[in-house]
Amino acid sequence: MTEAIDHLAAVLTPSDSTVVSLGAAGAAAFQEGYFLLGRLLAPKAKLPGFKGTIPTIWHIRSGLTIQDTGELFVFQFESASMRTRIMHGGPWFYRNTMLVVGEYDGLGPVESVPLNLMEAWVFVKGLPIALRNKVALSMVGSSIGHVVRFDLNALKSKEEEQRIKIVFYVRRRIRTWMIFEFSSVVKLELVLIYEKVKGFCPECGLFLHDALGCDKTLVKEKEAIKAKPLAAAMAGLSLSSEA
Ligand SMILES: [Zn+2]
Repeated sequence: MTEAIDHLAAVLTPSDSTVVSLGAAGAAAFQEGYFLLGRLLAPKAKLPGFKGTIPTIWHIRSGLTIQDTGELFVFQFESASMRTRIMHGGPWFYRNTMLVVGEYDGLGPVESVPLNLMEAWVFVKGLPIALRNKVALSMVGSSIGHVVRFDLNALKSKEEEQRIKIVFYVRRRIRTWMIFEFSSVVKLELVLIYEKVKGFCPECGLFLHDALGCDKTLVKEKEAIKAKPLAAAMAGLSLSSEA
């Protein structure tokens, strides 16, 4: 390394210009690095122990450096494989707070990297055996995010619990109870369990409340759905009593 620097020093001369063009030699300055950017879904200040603990969570003893930049972290890994494992081996959380990660080139402004996607396995419960297939799972998966893959073993053996790997947008509500109308007669209540995903509010499905607090959207939706058949039944009752 010292030799390379000596060599560059011999080639480059002091510049008397504001703009220094390094030409082809400039490429030598790019350090080999495998970066990820990370953002916790809660203010950093509330989780001071994160930086010291995350290498343990990731089972990395050496080859990782972490830098703070505002509310974000820049992780630098010594190898591409280590970075891939962290990028796709999640979801990652610290205490009850999720960490969102995204690829970064180490050059551009960190604010330009969108950190809103999370990859997780989602368990799907409630599909009858005739709907434990790829087509039905694609429809369910696509309604909550981008489908990456299915658990082929669970599909093959038509297990009651199916699994879909999904990339989802963390600012959307997480619904763990949904109704899917596969036809006018087949309406199913499905339970969705997001594996290793923590810290979202069960009443509104959001990771973070705004200044107004919880709007309880999911509770209201469920109440409205549950009230419908009752209202229909009541209407039926009143009709029959009139007759
Ligand atoms: Zn809430």
